[in-house]
Amino acid sequence: MTIEITSHRLPPSKCTNPSCAAPLDSAGGLHDKMPAPGDRTICIKCSEMMIFGDDLMLRSATEEERATMLEDKEVLEYLRALLRLHN
Ligand SMILES: [Zn+2]
Repeated sequence: MTIEITSHRLPPSKCTNPSCAAPLDSAGGLHDKMPAPGDRTICIKCSEMMIFGDDLMLRSATEEERATMLEDKEVLEYLRALLRLHN
């Protein structure tokens, strides 16, 4: 089975985790759509959970948003894949 991941260029932003602060200017995902304000994302480098703002700049997810994300099977699969990538 082949999985295609689509990548979209975004306004330059940074991971909101201060100990990471990875520059982020693109987003990839399993869905072929440009991220929109309110969409979720996860830093590929440190797994920080973030939300796209109105200007598509990133902000940290709130505790409630993190809890909701952790209930999503797709998010959990992505986090497991990141763990395998970094270990
Ligand atoms: Zn990060």
